Amino acid sequence: MVAEVLRHLADLLEPGVTTGDLNQAALAKMDELGADRPSFLGYHGFPAAICTSVDEEVVHGIPGRCRHRGGEAPDRPLRGGQVISIDCGVVYQGYHGDSAVTLPVGAIAPETEALLDACRSALWAGIEQVRPGARLTDIARAIQGSVRAAPVRYGIVEDYVGHGIGRNLHEPPNVPNVLSFHLRRNDLVLEPGLVIAIEPMLALGSKRTRTLRDGWTVVTKDGRPAAHFEHTVAVTAEGYEVLTKRADGLMTH
Ligand code: MG
Ligand code: MG
Repeated sequence: MVAEVLRHLADLLEPGVTTGDLNQAALAKMDELGADRPSFLGYHGFPAAICTSVDEEVVHGIPGRCRHRGGEAPDRPLRGGQVISIDCGVVYQGYHGDSAVTLPVGAIAPETEALLDACRSALWAGIEQVRPGARLTDIARAIQGSVRAAPVRYGIVEDYVGHGIGRNLHEPPNVPNVLSFHLRRNDLVLEPGLVIAIEPMLALGSKRTRTLRDGWTVVTKDGRPAAHFEHTVAVTAEGYEVLTKRADGLMTH
């Protein structure tokens, strides 16, 4: 269902479409598919069904026309040359799915296109580590290694990480995108049945972020564009299964 919603929103994306339009379309599609509810709406008070993060916004952007702090979040028509990260989660029969994709609006700068490619590749580098016996450090090392192999020095955002997912949107363990002493001390061996969301966030400039005064929207401190790709991945007896994958090319390798 998450994949279907993201596919639908990707098909709607063109200059002039607003973030509020995308949120309304997501709600309608979730309803049509028979989802129990959106994962994000009401989560710690988040006011919308999806997150829409444009250009320098990294994650948790609030779509327009939803009620926020007694008013309405400002709506925002997208322009050609921008990028938008759409993060989507739904609950079905008590279980959450969570996936994000950064998409171009019309034609975008080649350096931004490369940023998106690097982030998508980093996600898959992480996914391909998933199998019984692998560790969280293997995922982080693969993501970091994939990003560092690019000809451009991208910032890997460290303030936000992937996570376990199941009956709750966010469950243990944290799934970081870079190696750290903290991760090495809290490393975990993957076992069949564990389901995790892997979600690298890259910036064209510095990895440093700040949160806007709306209390949600996370932006790069230097104002340069960011990308965010995420899949929900189950550890199987043989390796992995990407639960939010579609076969038609959106967010595949
Ligand atoms: Mg997530
Ligand atoms: Mg997400």
